Amino acid sequence: MGLTQDLLKLGDRYGARNYKPLPVVLDRGEGAWVWDVDGKKYLDLLSAYSALNFGHSHPELVKVFQAQAAKLALCSRAFQSEELLHFCREMSEFCGMEATLPMNSGTEAIETALKVTRKWGALVKKVAENQANIVVMANNFHGRSITVISFSTEPIYRDHFGPYTPGFRIVPFGDAKALRQACDKNTIGVLLEPIQAEAGILIPSVGYLPEVRKICDEFRCLMILDEIQTGLSRTGREFCFQHESAKPDILVVGKSLGGGLMPVSAILTSRAVIDVIQPGEHGSTFGGNPLASAIARRSLKLLRELKLSERAEEIGRRVQKQLAELKSEKVRIVRGQGALLGIELHPSAGGARQYCEKLAEVGVLCKETHDHVVRIAPPLTIDFNDLHWGIERIIQVLR
Ligand SMILES: *Cc1c(COP(=O)(O)O)cnc(C)c1O
Repeated sequence: MGLTQDLLKLGDRYGARNYKPLPVVLDRGEGAWVWDVDGKKYLDLLSAYSALNFGHSHPELVKVFQAQAAKLALCSRAFQSEELLHFCREMSEFCGMEATLPMNSGTEAIETALKVTRKWGALVKKVAENQANIVVMANNFHGRSITVISFSTEPIYRDHFGPYTPGFRIVPFGDAKALRQACDKNTIGVLLEPIQAEAGILIPSVGYLPEVRKICDEFRCLMILDEIQTGLSRTGREFCFQHESAKPDILVVGKSLGGGLMPVSAILTSRAVIDVIQPGEHGSTFGGNPLASAIARRSLKLLRELKLSERAEEIGRRVQKQLAELKSEKVRIVRGQGALLGIELHPSAGGARQYCEKLAEVGVLCKETHDHVVRIAPPLTIDFNDLHWGIERIIQVLR
């Protein structure tokens, strides 16, 4: 453990303390496995919150990465790259949408969706200047920018970062009636996650998303769906909204789009909506760069080649079945959709963190979500025997 302890001291001394990571310092990864600097091996059951749906350094993606990096990595949006143009078409077709606007991080894509929605509200819906509102959900997680934390209900994300961006209304997640009451003639958009993952894997009841779709049509406002974490096969469909065919007006994608190699995000929408943005009104130095475009193109193809949606569903089935054997008074409920799962512990269990620390000791990496939920979200490429081994460790630790 020598090297790990020394390196952790560097972080303490020279790093910002904006995370409270487990005391593990990683050196390399392959598939669902990672190794720390002292040579200890772990199974990664977090997948960087779905950014690693393909596992660590998938060889097909690394191949594309290396070839494109050597050919043309970056060219500024003052010019076009062939990769970007192909990416826009393939991404739009993949999502069944008309147009793609690429960015880098998920937060940037959310900001982009909000800007496009506001401009649409002003130009198309013709809401008076500064009168528009966007309805969002309590317990949301959409990123960390000033505007995005302005409508967070989580004090730790929000406190002392004011003044806040106005123009947002917050309603309880999963409550269609409250949403309808919050909407009015100045409502230009409704922003939500199909499953609230950061909030502890909260899944709304069947029929909610279609109802949101209906309300957005009634009030003529844009349904903006944040599938940054749930999208690209994580929940057993390519997009979570496909479980109930509640297609949004703006779809936001990120995380696993970059194949676990780099940040790539995008918003997808109709031609009419995207065209409210004219040259010079929005942009990004790195958004849609040729390297990112090449990786994202390969990721979209690979996820179909590897049948990751079916694998996600199978992972969910296997984890739920195996965890059903776990009879522990510590566990309140196991919930999830596809390979996005959470074990909620009773408060009397003393918090999820200590179990994640014990799991790391026995070679399984998980992360607590809020105080009482152990999140399980393996790479979708995980070998089922490895998965079984990991869940066995979880069962032992929770017993
Ligand atoms: C991770 C995440 C974001 C933010 O993405 P970043 O790439 O970290 O900026 C936004 N929304 C959801 C649902 C996420 O899971």
